[in-house]
Amino acid sequence: MELHQEAAERLASSGRRYTRTRRRLVDILAKAGMPLSLPAIVRGRKNLPQSSAYRNLAELETAGLIRRVASEDGFARYELAEELTGHHHHLMCSRCGQVQDLHIPAPLERRLDRTLDVLAREAAFATVRHRLDLIGLCRACGST
Ligand SMILES: [Zn+2]
Ligand SMILES: [Zn+2]
Repeated sequence: MELHQEAAERLASSGRRYTRTRRRLVDILAKAGMPLSLPAIVRGRKNLPQSSAYRNLAELETAGLIRRVASEDGFARYELAEELTGHHHHLMCSRCGQVQDLHIPAPLERRLDRTLDVLAREAAFATVRHRLDLIGLCRACGST
């Protein structure tokens, strides 16, 4: 299903409208391809005040369209929900706080999933999904 159509339907099912601002925020996050902080979302964008962006991000988060990614610098970053963009992981820089998406090739992802399932079963924990982020130094920070 097309991204905006799916977003509109998800919002409608929780009694919310897919306003122009919300559509714009979904667009920005879809094009970024990485989690963005609030200042990065509004930077250079006229007609998108930070207060309005924040309010609408919260609405989109409540509706399950986007999720907040906790990064190493303490700034919340936002990305589209995995149901909309697909499962992935993150590379988080512990020095500058940058967060990048990390897509693991499908065969490796399946192997990882099986391994985590075994660990979960040993702990009598019924897993539905996993989140796995790598923390370290990005290319720029690692080379200084
Ligand atoms: Zn860095
Ligand atoms: Zn995974």
